[in-house]
Amino acid sequence: MQSLIDHARTFHERVSGGREQAATLNEGVSPQAMFITCSDAQVIPSLITGARPGELFELRTAGNVIPPYRLGRLTTEAATIEYAVNVLGVCDLIVCGHTRCGAVQGRVRSWTLRSAPTTRWWLLQTHRWREAPAGSGEPERAHLVAQLDKLRRYPRVARRLASGRLRLHGWFYEVDTGVVSNYRPESGAFTPL
Ligand SMILES: [Zn+2]
Repeated sequence: MQSLIDHARTFHERVSGGREQAATLNEGVSPQAMFITCSDAQVIPSLITGARPGELFELRTAGNVIPPYRLGRLTTEAATIEYAVNVLGVCDLIVCGHTRCGAVQGRVRSWTLRSAPTTRWWLLQTHRWREAPAGSGEPERAHLVAQLDKLRRYPRVARRLASGRLRLHGWFYEVDTGVVSNYRPESGAFTPL
């Protein structure tokens, strides 16, 4: 922890010394995309995408779970997605799952979440999975597809997808190899980006 504190304490010195980053931070943000992924420390969106400060609007939850949309139901996820789409006007939504996801594994083997009943309830109640894509052998992929299905039902997302003003991407990151693949809804397959 101390190294994190030390870095934060001197962060302003590095910002003022780096003109490009300082300019980005001072000008405000106009992100290229919204990146929804797991809170897992192994997944680092800026490293995976090469995004510079200000280029990604991020939403991170345990297991990159997106709750089903329900009118009048307030959730952090719904509010953050709404802000990205309605206010920032992002044109691309990326949901990125990953291998060796502790949350998804916890849903499969619920005994591993005995000490985290809220997490277990959340994972069990927020969605149903489709069958895993043939040959994938990884529940994380089916889990990702379920999140994409729910995101498509958010009214603003649905309208913008229908009008072509928004694109939805399902990415899958393999933490051991760094390979990122893309979900193809028309075939149900994951193919290299
Ligand atoms: Zn995860």
